[in-house]
Amino acid sequence: MILTKTFRNNIKVHAIQTGSVRIKKEHYQYSGIGLLRFPKIIFSHQWEDEMPIWTWVIESGLGNYLIDTGESTAFYDSKHFKSTTEDYIYRKMLRFNITREQEIDQQLGKIGLSTHQIDAVILTHLHLDHIDGIKYFPKSKFLISKVDWDKPSGLPRDILPKWFNAEKILCQNSKDGFNKSYNVSKNLKLISTPGHTIGHQSVLLSIDGYAILFAGDMTFNEHQLKNKIVGGINVNIEKSKRTIEEIQKYSRESNLIYLPSHDPESGLRLMDLKRTICE
Ligand SMILES: [Zn+2]
Repeated sequence: MILTKTFRNNIKVHAIQTGSVRIKKEHYQYSGIGLLRFPKIIFSHQWEDEMPIWTWVIESGLGNYLIDTGESTAFYDSKHFKSTTEDYIYRKMLRFNITREQEIDQQLGKIGLSTHQIDAVILTHLHLDHIDGIKYFPKSKFLISKVDWDKPSGLPRDILPKWFNAEKILCQNSKDGFNKSYNVSKNLKLISTPGHTIGHQSVLLSIDGYAILFAGDMTFNEHQLKNKIVGGINVNIEKSKRTIEEIQKYSRESNLIYLPSHDPESGLRLMDLKRTICE
């Protein structure tokens, strides 16, 4: 599925769904059981409904940005993971549903872009369903979180192409309504949103009076943001809660359009420019 919203100066934001994923109940929501939560996720039989895997393209005369690269059919290859432990864990935790046509390279073609026309790929974090399409962008610049690279959690490093090389970004203290941010260009910045991973970053596009936040897995959906619900895969629960509070506060001061990677409503929220306002 591709949804496209056009802004001033013919700047376009495309919501591109690269298949979908099912996760377990204990993965979707932190249940307060500390260290035991990981084995609980692995051995649980309670699957949540399918969630989309969104990637985003910002297309403009000044450059084309891709935010996250989505999942790939390579997951179905029994040799996708070199490590048998990783192979076991991922296949126990996640159920993907993706076809070759839904992979990011094929879908870019549908909006008239080749993979070579993506100037920069920004990764919100380094989890499988956000990085499995990296292989299609050997010519692009990559922007990733330095903190996530230095202290990875849940990064299947073996699936990264040998040529992979990224600019490692460190968000700095800021006075722009966020604790830490990094300016990519005039209207585009990275916001430090730690918790899900320790260096998790979201991408903020300021355009036509709106603050469009591509929020990765900060929460799985808008409901979790509004109700301060933390996911079960989370390296720091307290940081996650503080990040949620920071974005909740920001939603009261701006025209926030909140777009997490797995919210079924993210695409339509972009199309309708439907504000997220937290009480
Ligand atoms: Zn993730």
